[in-house]
Amino acid sequence: MPEGPPGGSAPSNRAVFVDRDGTLNPDLHYLKDPTLLDLNRGVGDALRLARNHGFLIVCVTNQSGIDRGFYTAEDVERIHRRLNELLAAHRARVDAFYYCPHAPERHCACRKPGTGLFEQARREWQIDLATSAVVGDRAMDIEAGRKLGLLTVMVRPRGHELEADTELAEHHLSPDIQADSFPAAMYRLLARG
Ligand SMILES: [Mg+2]
Ligand SMILES: [Zn+2]
Repeated sequence: MPEGPPGGSAPSNRAVFVDRDGTLNPDLHYLKDPTLLDLNRGVGDALRLARNHGFLIVCVTNQSGIDRGFYTAEDVERIHRRLNELLAAHRARVDAFYYCPHAPERHCACRKPGTGLFEQARREWQIDLATSAVVGDRAMDIEAGRKLGLLTVMVRPRGHELEADTELAEHHLSPDIQADSFPAAMYRLLARG
């Protein structure tokens, strides 16, 4: 769970909402062991740059493996601590993690493309959605961002362009920015000012 907003924070912060699996780190499917965690290339430097531009980094992730019994909430939080350890080597960090523990059949409000976790982060960190963005590798990330009026950024990793495009077409979604890697996506986002 997040530590809460920094003391004396400005009335509105801008944030980059980042997906976790497939975006910050390779998607290993129901990852439980933090020692297997690795950052995608260039993620640390790109997050440091975004924070230097004044963006909060808020990770929103679906972790239905908790509901399915593949791992526990404690396992997920251990992975998030490990992720920030890896990022610290690049003088970067994720400011807050929010995860949905539910399986899709629960029809909860927090599983992406639901917006519950984004709304919670908005309240807890006084985030101005109109100047914020979402970066993800799946249609559900873009769909959640659209509902909230965020700038939407899709990472289509090389070799997976067709899957990404098919998913977007099925959901009638067209991201504002597309790139073939997380750093390329972030640089394009930051170039917008
Ligand atoms: Mg993903
Ligand atoms: Zn949920």
